[in-house]
Amino acid sequence: MDLGIRGKRGLVCAASKGLGRGCAEALAEAGVNLVINARTRETLEATAREIADRHGVEVTPVAGDITTEEGRAAVLEALGGQADILVNNAGGPPPGRWTDWSREDFIGALDGNLLAAVALMQALVPGMAERGWGRVVNITSQSVRAPIPELGLSNTARLALTGFVAGVSRQVAGQGVCINNLLPGMHATDRLIQLDENVSRSRNVSFDEARAERKARIPAGDYGRPEDFGAACAFLCSQQARFIIGQNLLLDGGQTQTTT
Ligand code: NAP
Repeated sequence: MDLGIRGKRGLVCAASKGLGRGCAEALAEAGVNLVINARTRETLEATAREIADRHGVEVTPVAGDITTEEGRAAVLEALGGQADILVNNAGGPPPGRWTDWSREDFIGALDGNLLAAVALMQALVPGMAERGWGRVVNITSQSVRAPIPELGLSNTARLALTGFVAGVSRQVAGQGVCINNLLPGMHATDRLIQLDENVSRSRNVSFDEARAERKARIPAGDYGRPEDFGAACAFLCSQQARFIIGQNLLLDGGQTQTTT
């Protein structure tokens, strides 16, 4: 399917690896010129070169922490202050116990998983609305539908972003801007390898056993792949997605038992 976005310009945050990279690859395949971001310069530059070579689009790497004002200023400068497509993403806060989290822990989580995305929408969406076309995809989590107790910082910040998007998406839909959220369940990325290692250590089983047990809890019987996730993101950024507004699309292989 031709997504109708060849020649558009997009920003994908936290995109040197994992789900962000999956989104960058799929948008590049659809012909979108990109600015991509991550903190580690070498990995980011290598990813940018690979994507540009594979898909024949411009990919500009901008190294920096997207949860800081400086990091965001750098990507906005590379974009000349405007983009047609924005994919918000950043690392998730650490797990822990609800009794231990301090005000600073909450501020850190909100900076990373709420305020960075809000700031980039505030910077880029008014221009999209003025030009009459734009797409925003926020990478949140399965935990927005079914909160994970030990990830309380993440649950809190991501639900706040979900609430923000529910309102704003309806306010700009009439100007051709579609804002939606993608909710990953378990996907085979570096983050998931770490989680499998944690389970293997804490339960004293092998890495493969830990992984097999976790996969067995997913009705689809496997982890998602970053390329599947990226394809869904590219569709939400397509011309065809013009009637999809303020949705929370769960990509979890059926793991979350819910009717909505
Ligand atoms: P990943 O494989 O660890 O990749 C994270 C990417 O983000 C890397 O490119 C990393 O590069 C970059 N990054 C992290 N923090 C950043 C920051 N502050 N500023 C700029 N770049 C940053 O992680 P992932 O699995 O793709 O996860 C992406 C998001 O989805 C996370 O918020 C995660 O919590 C959420 N999620 C993932 C899953 C899953 O199964 N994978 C499930 C639910 C939710 P640098 O380290 O070089 O910055």
